[in-house]
Amino acid sequence: MRWGLVGASTIAAEWMIDAIRANGGEIIGVQSGSAEHGADYAQKHGIAYSTTDLAALLDQKPEAIYISSVNDKHRAQLEAAAKRGIHVLCEKPLATSLDDAKAMIELCEHNNVRFATNHHLRWAATHQAIRAAIEAGKIGEVRSARVFHAVYLPVHLQGWRIDNPSAGGGVVLDITVHNCDILAYLLGEYPQEVVSMTDHKLFGDLVEDEAMSVWRYPSGVLAYTHESFATPHAGHGIEIHGSEGSLFGESVMSQQPVGTVYLQRNGEREELAVNPHNLYQAGVADFVAAVNEGRAPACDGIAGTRSLAVALAVLESAKSGNKVSVDYAGV
Ligand code: NDP
Repeated sequence: MRWGLVGASTIAAEWMIDAIRANGGEIIGVQSGSAEHGADYAQKHGIAYSTTDLAALLDQKPEAIYISSVNDKHRAQLEAAAKRGIHVLCEKPLATSLDDAKAMIELCEHNNVRFATNHHLRWAATHQAIRAAIEAGKIGEVRSARVFHAVYLPVHLQGWRIDNPSAGGGVVLDITVHNCDILAYLLGEYPQEVVSMTDHKLFGDLVEDEAMSVWRYPSGVLAYTHESFATPHAGHGIEIHGSEGSLFGESVMSQQPVGTVYLQRNGEREELAVNPHNLYQAGVADFVAAVNEGRAPACDGIAGTRSLAVALAVLESAKSGNKVSVDYAGV
């Protein structure tokens, strides 16, 4: 598949360029708002062409683009590609508003292009093992979940995430969306209402760098989640608790194919077998298969819009001090 990169970003440099190439993809060019940065980036990553003009990149006729610019640019960039029939793999959060994300879905449907959201955690072998155990009934009826995804934001990422609200900065749009998607993948449902608090611990008061929430699901499951940019020593993981047992994913909220999964029941703790693989390569493989098969990607635009809806509800609850119903209208 011929790919164009939209955004000369860290995530593409660290993970996605390799993931695309590992799936046999050819990266024909990169678009960046900065000519100098784009040219340096192209040279460093062996990409033959760079431009500041998105239309010029699209004129090179990529079959797909990967959008990893800052979040408030995603919609316009997707629209330019979808109108030309070019498939889109887009970073999370898909946008900074639900109206934007829904318009992105509609445009892709209208132009019959595939649209995927890059929620990587559902591609981890650890999370796949947790889901298989739940589906096999190993923990009985699921009753509650806990996600602890509180980290220290690496210094090289301490830019727009901590000082630019209009670009979609803040820990909620950055990490809560991932927590929502992984719980949707594991539980097969999305929360209907949330209550949350956020705080500014370390990085000024322009956007929140700490959040805790409780989410209620249609089945009655309760989940609580903790996201942070300011928690260097906590470690990360997920727990799913059921009537017959509990599943513990330790160090599994990672970009790396790492972590351990335990099943605990009847007073015994058993480590589940996991065969780690690259999360981002697996996500790209599904996207390529979806294009080839003419089907929706496993994590499509609707999934990305739903995770955004939950993140926005978390922010609204923190602001108002009220419990908030998640707005899934139209998705
Ligand atoms: P970066 O800050 O690295 O890049 C975002 C944009 O900033 C780039 O597209 C580029 O703009 C500009 N930029 C970066 N470095 C420079 C530079 N040296 N000079 C000039 N401009 C520069 O962001 P991330 O890679 O961390 O995040 C990008 C997107 O990916 C976001 O939507 C984020 O939420 C998502 N993300 C997803 C992850 C996942 O696991 N799914 C993990 C991390 C991020 P331009 O577009 O103009 O080239």
